[in-house]
Amino acid sequence: MPELPEVELYTRYFAEHALHRRIARVRVLDDRILGAQRRATFTRALTGKSFTRVRRHGKHFFAAAGAQWLHLHFGMSGDLSFYRDEQPRFARVVFDFADATHLAFEDMRLFGVAELTPDPDAYVRERGLGPDPLDPQFRLSDFRERIAGRRGAAKALLMSQEVLAGIGNLYADETLFQTAIHPRRPADRITPAETKAIFTTMRKILRTVIERKARGGSYPSRYLTPHREAGERCPRCGGTIEKTVVMTRTTYFCARHQR
Ligand SMILES: [Zn+2]
Repeated sequence: MPELPEVELYTRYFAEHALHRRIARVRVLDDRILGAQRRATFTRALTGKSFTRVRRHGKHFFAAAGAQWLHLHFGMSGDLSFYRDEQPRFARVVFDFADATHLAFEDMRLFGVAELTPDPDAYVRERGLGPDPLDPQFRLSDFRERIAGRRGAAKALLMSQEVLAGIGNLYADETLFQTAIHPRRPADRITPAETKAIFTTMRKILRTVIERKARGGSYPSRYLTPHREAGERCPRCGGTIEKTVVMTRTTYFCARHQR
């Protein structure tokens, strides 16, 4: 399931391939991907325009085209494919460019969305999304303010899109693993030093994963992510990786060093 690093890579891919090409035709192959939006509204607004710039906020992708922005959410299985010849099997929306290239938004499971929005900032505000952890304006003091007075499990805190936009199951587990915090630790028992560690470590993880995946690489072997299986040996302390459920989400952690 795409989280912030994966959506960042889609954003770079879109910018590399789809900007500044005239959109000759928009084909919606499955209306369910449009959510509440009407097909005619969607296709009319984009036809004849070009995508001129991209933005990302958490897991939300935006591309400007004329007076509107295309908003994509990748759901469980969203993907982008730029091609000349063969249309991908699960293409739901295809942009046919005037130079005979195409960009498909694919989504096998149809949990994603492609729609128009007039203003990404308003979109983020109206949905109450927290800051993007990689936004250069995002400060430790903002993070402290957002988590002050919150209760519930540490993992739920990190996954709340009102606290932070873009952290999902995988990177919440990875951050807690690397900061030695048990996923069920009550949020109001995270110390100020640990809050700082979360802030720094989480951003480092996201940047590392983006840079590694951008080069076709994978996760560092000292990360939890390549060891997400009950009974695996913890790459940090040699303890045992355990599997549990926190807030309905499958959670992996080390029972020895995460407290
Ligand atoms: Zn461990």
